[in-house]
Amino acid sequence: MIVVMRREAKPENIEAVVGRVKELGFRAHLSAGEERTIIGIIGDERHLNESVFRTMDGVERVVRVVKPFKLASRDFHPHDTIVAINGLSIGAKRIVIMAGPCAVESREQIMETALAVKEAGAHILRGGAFKPRSSPYSFQGLGYKGLELLAEVREETGLAIVTEAMAPAQVAAVGECADIIQIGARNMQNYNLLHAVGELGKPVLLKRGMMCTMEELLMSAEYILSHGNYRLMLCERGIRTFETYTRNTLDISAVPVLKQLTHLPVIVDPSHAAGDWQWVTPLSMGAVAAGADGLLIEVHPHPDKALSDGTQSLRPARFAQLVAKVRQVALAVGREV
Ligand code: PEP
Ligand code: MN
Repeated sequence: MIVVMRREAKPENIEAVVGRVKELGFRAHLSAGEERTIIGIIGDERHLNESVFRTMDGVERVVRVVKPFKLASRDFHPHDTIVAINGLSIGAKRIVIMAGPCAVESREQIMETALAVKEAGAHILRGGAFKPRSSPYSFQGLGYKGLELLAEVREETGLAIVTEAMAPAQVAAVGECADIIQIGARNMQNYNLLHAVGELGKPVLLKRGMMCTMEELLMSAEYILSHGNYRLMLCERGIRTFETYTRNTLDISAVPVLKQLTHLPVIVDPSHAAGDWQWVTPLSMGAVAAGADGLLIEVHPHPDKALSDGTQSLRPARFAQLVAKVRQVALAVGREV
């Protein structure tokens, strides 16, 4: 529920509303704009009667929040959230490119990839140490050793790191080496994990579950935001449809819809959507044209030898071409790379 105060509301009117909110066992979030103050009521509004506030002095309107998410909503936080990482402002004019292998495989592999993507214009290095694989017989990632390698590469190249945490017990260690903690599609609704990354307060990249709606994605975001962690980015990575020519279907419409519903930056991962390197560049261009704030791209120096997702990984030279094309699209839509 949102209480919109009148332009001429006095500070004591605002204090009275906040006091009543607290008395009723809810939390109040004040947003003081140039024209008026808006008070967001945090808690389960189903048990709250709007007449309680309607009758108070200085109150103009009481709006039930039809949308079940509040902290993620633009209704409540109209300005774009910008996540500052390592000198980058994610969600601002510059489109941020995160690139690297699906998984960290060895020191040589991650270092070679890091140098190549940096040279091509990437801002952040991706690479999984803990890998959520469909088969327990597939390569599961190097685990803690992978985190150590990422930390070394970060030190040597100056690139920020995004890497996945799959369980609450891994969050502290991942948070030590990573600049951004990735929550994978399969864990989008792992609520204990969402609480853990919310509590840690480090930047989070929350991927949309392959069978989840945008509203469910935003409800998961809400778990993280409710801990006061606003350093959060959403990521569209393709959803399951009846189509089989691609691994998933990139829901390009999620970009403008999410940008309208929420203030959080929206990143697109065309690699897991396509499942084939051939479609990654055109999908990246489409994502940027649609308003994405960043891209997450899989790059491997030797895709034929990759231990996971080689088919969808770009060779560094092709990745460099992708960056050049994306730059042109970015300029055309008033952004930059
Ligand atoms: C990944 O980024 O390597 C990954 C496993 O992605 P997703 O969770 O989107 O499948
Ligand atoms: Mn992958």
